[in-house]
Amino acid sequence: MNYLVTGANRGIGFDLTSQLLTQGHSVVACARTPEKAQELELLGKEYGDRCQILPMDVTFEKSIHKAIALIKVTHLDVVINCAGVLLDSAATIENLNMVDLHSTLQTNLFGPIHVTRASLKLLKKSKAPKLVNVTSLMGSIADNSTGSSFSYRISKSALNMFSKNLALGESWLSVLMIHPGWVQTDMGGKNALVSPQESASGILKVINSNFASGSFLNFRGEKLAW
Ligand code: NDP
Repeated sequence: MNYLVTGANRGIGFDLTSQLLTQGHSVVACARTPEKAQELELLGKEYGDRCQILPMDVTFEKSIHKAIALIKVTHLDVVINCAGVLLDSAATIENLNMVDLHSTLQTNLFGPIHVTRASLKLLKKSKAPKLVNVTSLMGSIADNSTGSSFSYRISKSALNMFSKNLALGESWLSVLMIHPGWVQTDMGGKNALVSPQESASGILKVINSNFASGSFLNFRGEKLAW
């Protein structure tokens, strides 16, 4: 199958890419600055035509369209919007930095929306197209009992709403919102409970399961509260 992964150069996106290639799939691996992505470059060399590495900054619509236009595979079966940022830990409205809020929404919300729109033509050519948005339990309103990280929480809640709406409006497309767990990446930190490998492997299993379009699940396939 043909996958597209954003943020493929490090963290969960890198492990998703690596595992997909090991499983025999083709991956369009998108990274903001591929020239700095040495590990991804090694995968590119190892897997040749099955790993197409493309520059894509998800905050620039032009960069997204440029990358999509360069895709060599004839169609995309699965698009995984994984690129994301966690810029703030603001717990009060006084602490909320509006620049961080704008920037977070650009990456975590508008990014996946633009990538989704730009990928529609290639997804429509698949027999069973799937759109996966890596969101977060921190986007769950029901689960929010502690506050903090205004920008990040807002961005992931909004991404969930976008994804649910997409699922309802596009019956030909299976849409999944997935929480990857608390993962040991630059974002999750060293104390996180889940390795990037375990998270990626779980996410891929859930993608291949019979999930109902519009579901909000974690990497173990468990349903999460909105
Ligand atoms: P990392 O910080 O390890 O990696 C983030 C990735 O996103 C990098 O590849 C980074 O690229 C990319 N990225 C950021 N901004 C852009 C941009 N403008 N254009 C293209 N790529 C960009 O994070 P994780 O791997 O941990 O997170 C992956 C996803 O999982 C995110 O959506 C995150 O919100 C979500 N998540 C993570 C959790 C965790 O515990 N780690 C928990 C819940 C959700 P670059 O190297 O160029 O910066």
